[in-house]
Amino acid sequence: MIKSDYHIHTSLCGHADGEPSEYAEQALKMGLTEIGFSDHAPLVALNDPSVSMQLDQLPRYHKMIADVIQAYKGKLNIKIGIEADFFPGYEDKTREILNAYPYDYVLGSVHYMEKWGFDDPIQRQIWDEKDVNEVYREYYQLLRASAQSKLFDIIAHVDLVKKFGHRPSQNLTDEVIKTASVFKDTGVAIEINTSGLRKPAKEIYPALWTLEIYAKAGVPIVFGSDSHSPDQVGKDFDKAAALAIKAGYKEYLIFEKRQIAIKEKLQ
Ligand code: ZN
Ligand code: FE
Ligand code: FE
Ligand code: ZN
Repeated sequence: MIKSDYHIHTSLCGHADGEPSEYAEQALKMGLTEIGFSDHAPLVALNDPSVSMQLDQLPRYHKMIADVIQAYKGKLNIKIGIEADFFPGYEDKTREILNAYPYDYVLGSVHYMEKWGFDDPIQRQIWDEKDVNEVYREYYQLLRASAQSKLFDIIAHVDLVKKFGHRPSQNLTDEVIKTASVFKDTGVAIEINTSGLRKPAKEIYPALWTLEIYAKAGVPIVFGSDSHSPDQVGKDFDKAAALAIKAGYKEYLIFEKRQIAIKEKLQ
């Protein structure tokens, strides 16, 4: 059984609901012993208050999470993380933002190709102009670069590109094998993210066949629900655990102060 959910948003990002305490309450109800908040970090290459926090909201974010950590002491372990976008060429600015406050872990996410938010429902029609195979190859290339940037501890939802159900016609095993080897070499973990089940892809991120490749390469895992409302905390973690076990995993990671603190047994 999985006891920890590392991907939880707050209302500060402009597209999530609920108070941190409501997420904590749901975590207790779901039998979790730990959660980590990981709201969207300020974007460095563009500005869109509906997708991420703004720089001047970071003090409030940290205060809000510090308060909920305090309130749940002894009942629920609460960690402070953040989900930061990877934008090639903006590494210094990203590092500056991530170094401004202490975190237990940083999730690195690829949501953009140049300025195209390929998983943003508002920008979904841009897919119609694209070659799906090429978008997938570029996505995997960005995943590798995000790990190589050394900005992140955990790479989030490592096949988010499938969110709207676009599927490549080519076999991309070579891309995934290359990516797994970069993840292993750079020491990042990956996230098994259940929110894909709630999207047109109707599948956990990442798909089993890719997770098998990551497992074989020795890339460690954490679990996340990508909750944007309190009812989503720990959602479908039974399916996530089954998937991880099927892929060959025996443990998942617990982070503290941006270090691996514990390796928890799966089941
Ligand atoms: Zn979000
Ligand atoms: Fe994300
Ligand atoms: Fe998220
Ligand atoms: Zn996310």
